[in-house]
Amino acid sequence: MIKDKEGTPTPKWVTDYYEDFRLKERTKCFKTCSKCGETKLIFKFSVDKRNLDGRISVCKACRSLEYLKYYYNNRDKILIQVREYHKNNKRDRSIYFKDYREKHKEYLKELASKWYLENKETIKKRNLKYYQANEEVCKQRRKLWIEKNRERIKKYNRQYKRKHKVLKAVI
Ligand SMILES: [Zn+2]
Repeated sequence: MIKDKEGTPTPKWVTDYYEDFRLKERTKCFKTCSKCGETKLIFKFSVDKRNLDGRISVCKACRSLEYLKYYYNNRDKILIQVREYHKNNKRDRSIYFKDYREKHKEYLKELASKWYLENKETIKKRNLKYYQANEEVCKQRRKLWIEKNRERIKKYNRQYKRKHKVLKAVI
């Protein structure tokens, strides 16, 4: 039962009326837009829990029109805002992932090698299929890679030779 400030109980017919009103509001199927004045189906209005009927007073069509107008009047400002947001978030995310990779290095390595072993054949088949379909591109890429990593390859080969020489000597 609803009581007022002095503590006197509100008459039952008032609370009943209020409850009835609330129920009607919550279950109504139509609503009149406060902007265009048209009566539309309730789901043509966006959800707003603060309202008794759970919907905002302006219909979706009016809202999009409003936003469109706002967008064209403030286009440059909005574009800058969006760009700034993406820039900032991208940086945060890349820092987050870098941090994660550093902290879970061993685990990620393990996961990758496990995944590779489990899918070895599929990966090989996929790579071969890709190579056959894009032979020229692959050859060019390989050439570029060799040019870029010339020093690394030389060093690797030297190490390989040395290792095998030692092995031969032992045998
Ligand atoms: Zn409207």
